[in-house]
Amino acid sequence: MNKILSVNAGSSSLKFQLLSMPSERVIVEGIVERIGNADAIYTVKLNGNKERTTLSIKNHSEAVQLVLNDLIKRQIVASLDEIKGVGHRVVHGGEKFKESTIITPEVIKQIEEVSFLAPLHNPGAITGIKAFQEALPNVVHVAVFDTAFHQTMEPEAYMYAVPYEWYEKYGVRKYGFHGTSHQYVSMKAAELMGKPYEESKIITVHLGNGASLAAIKNGKCIDTSMGMTPLEGIPMGTRSGTIDPAIIEFICTKENKTVQQVLEDLNKRSGYLGISGLSNDSRDLEDAAAEGHYRSNLALDIQYKRIADYIGSYYVYLGGADAIVFTAGIGENNARCREVVCDRISALGVKIDYDLNNRVRGVVTELSTPDSKIRVFLIPTNEELMIARDTMRLAKL
Ligand code: AMP
Repeated sequence: MNKILSVNAGSSSLKFQLLSMPSERVIVEGIVERIGNADAIYTVKLNGNKERTTLSIKNHSEAVQLVLNDLIKRQIVASLDEIKGVGHRVVHGGEKFKESTIITPEVIKQIEEVSFLAPLHNPGAITGIKAFQEALPNVVHVAVFDTAFHQTMEPEAYMYAVPYEWYEKYGVRKYGFHGTSHQYVSMKAAELMGKPYEESKIITVHLGNGASLAAIKNGKCIDTSMGMTPLEGIPMGTRSGTIDPAIIEFICTKENKTVQQVLEDLNKRSGYLGISGLSNDSRDLEDAAAEGHYRSNLALDIQYKRIADYIGSYYVYLGGADAIVFTAGIGENNARCREVVCDRISALGVKIDYDLNNRVRGVVTELSTPDSKIRVFLIPTNEELMIARDTMRLAKL
C-alpha cells in the first residue's frame, strides 16, 4: 500500500487529497484558502467530519507545513516517509506537455515558459510544487496537466483561422481544459459499457462553474469546446463562452473601457450571472426560473442550447457516438439540466429515464433507456484520483 498526495494549488489556495493506492481510497482531504492572509481558512475532511480553522498563513510553504504537520498530529501518517509521491495539477502545459510527467528542474522551467498562456493559474501551481518539493524532497513529484489530454487534436480542430504567424510566434491555438476530467469520465463510460476504450466514441459534458465538452474517439480527444483560454465554448457561471470577437472593440468604444476591462466582464460578469443579473450558481437560477424569473430561465436556455449544439456537432465529427457523459457540479447534480439537454438532442435518438434522472445525483448511473440510440451516463468526475494514478504509474510504485 502506498500513500499518494494529490494536490491542486492556486494563487491563494491549496487543495489536497491523501489517497491509499492501489485501493484508491481517500484517507483525508482538505483545503487551505486565503493563503497570504491573517484569516486564512484550513478545512479538513476526515471520516465524514469537516473541521474548519481560521489562522494566519503567510505563503504556500506555510500552508504545506500546516497540512503535513496536521497529517502527523492526527496520526494519519506516522512519518512523512509514508508519503510515496505527490501529484500536482497544472492548468496549462502548452504544446510541451502531452502527458503527465515527473517534475525535474527542467520541467519547472518549461512550465514557467508556458505560463504566459495561463497567467492566473500556472504561477500558483509552480509555487505549490516548489513548496511541496521543499517539504518532501525525497519523493517523486508528478505534474498532471489540464491541457494534456487534448493534445491529440488534429490541426484542423485546434487551429484558429487567423494569421498563421500568431500560432508560430505566440502559440495562438486551441488547447482545451478539464482534460483530466474528460479522460477520467470517458474511460469510466467505456468500462461501464464493457467496450474497449480504444474502440469507443464518447462525448463528455463537464458542467461546473467552468464548463466544457469533449469529443473522444478511440480513447483520444479529437475536439473540445474551451480554447486557448477557458473563455471559449459554452456560457458558464460567469464566463460568456464564445462570442463575436468584434463585440470587444464595440464595447470598449461605447463604454470607454480598455480591452482588459471588457475581458474581465466576459470572464467575471457574463454567463449565468450576466444574463440573469442574479447569480452564477445553477441552483439559484433553477429556483428563480421556476418562479417565473425570465432572465434566469433565459440564462439557462442559452447554455442548454449551446450544449446541444456542441453535442450535435461532435456527433457528426465523431461519426456517431456510443455514449454521452454528464459530470461536474451541474452535470452530476442538476437533473433538469440533463433532462432539457437530452430532450434538445432527441433527434439523435437519445432517450433517458426521466424518473431515474430526477432521483439520482452524484452517483454513477446509466440514465438512458434500453431503446436509446446513444447511452447516457452520469459519472462523478475524479481528477484527484487520475492525478494519484499517474503519480503511481510514473513513480513506478
Ligand atoms: P463545480 O465547479 O464542478 O464545483 O460546480 C459548481 C456548480 O455546480 C454550481 O453552479 C452549482 O450550482 C452546481 N451544483 C453543485 N451542487 C449542486 C446541487 N446539489 N444541485 C444543483 N447544482 C449544484
